Amino acid sequence: MIGDQQLIRLQEEIRKFLAEWVGEKKSENYWREPLVAVASAIDPLFIELRRVVDPEHAMPEDLLPGAQSVVVFFLPFQQRLGEENDLFGFHAARSWAEAYVATNRLIQTINTHLNKRLEEAGYRSTITPATHNFDEEKLVSLWSHKHLAYIAGLGTFGHHHQLITASGCCGRLGSIVTNMPLSPTPRPAAQWCLEKAGRECYACVPKCPCGALSEGEFDRRKCYAQCLINDGYYGDLPLVDVCGKCACEVPCSYCIPTPAAIR
Ligand code: SF4
Ligand code: SF4
Repeated sequence: MIGDQQLIRLQEEIRKFLAEWVGEKKSENYWREPLVAVASAIDPLFIELRRVVDPEHAMPEDLLPGAQSVVVFFLPFQQRLGEENDLFGFHAARSWAEAYVATNRLIQTINTHLNKRLEEAGYRSTITPATHNFDEEKLVSLWSHKHLAYIAGLGTFGHHHQLITASGCCGRLGSIVTNMPLSPTPRPAAQWCLEKAGRECYACVPKCPCGALSEGEFDRRKCYAQCLINDGYYGDLPLVDVCGKCACEVPCSYCIPTPAAIR
């Protein structure tokens, strides 16, 4: 098993790559410091995904025969994006939609870069798509980054069904599968969502513009319909089926929430 040193190196690679990307002005700078974590490819929770997400959810071994590790990274958005999205009203803010497009492109490029670095070190890896590995009938992802990130210890699920990381939930996730044996990152020992931890919060519920999120059941179909409304609204951009209002300007937007953050 290759230990923490290798994870630190991967983290450094991503950080350096992001700084160069922004320095070379390949897009606006939408991001804060990336977070990186690792899951063992044989973590028993992967099999659970076939029960909790979809019977056809991919296993690391399906993507890369001989897979040993799944590296998951989170690119947290700058706070101004959350503020702008929150203020914009019914539709997602243009900056939120543009950040989505730019981040998907960045994730693909980071993955290609990591793939090259791992190859140079004598290992194989598989580039996984940043998004659009989505079953539009069942409304589930067959390589669910949020669930991978949970397994890798990047955070815990919030009431709003987003993953709350140490840098909050505003941002995007990417992953690669590799045959490099890396030490898995420990998962958080407690729920980071205040409501799930037994503290009153539900600050995310009134943020939802279409009633998909309530104190009860989450309505996946209503949520996806709202994302498609935003895609139609920004017809000049590539696919932007996003919303994210429930992640913006709530106690868990940019950090692990504390009860003091409840407004
Ligand atoms: S806003 Fe509150 S209830 Fe909603 S996910 Fe964040 S911490 Fe949990
Ligand atoms: S992403 Fe938007 S539509 Fe979906 S639950 Fe959150 S606020 Fe509601």
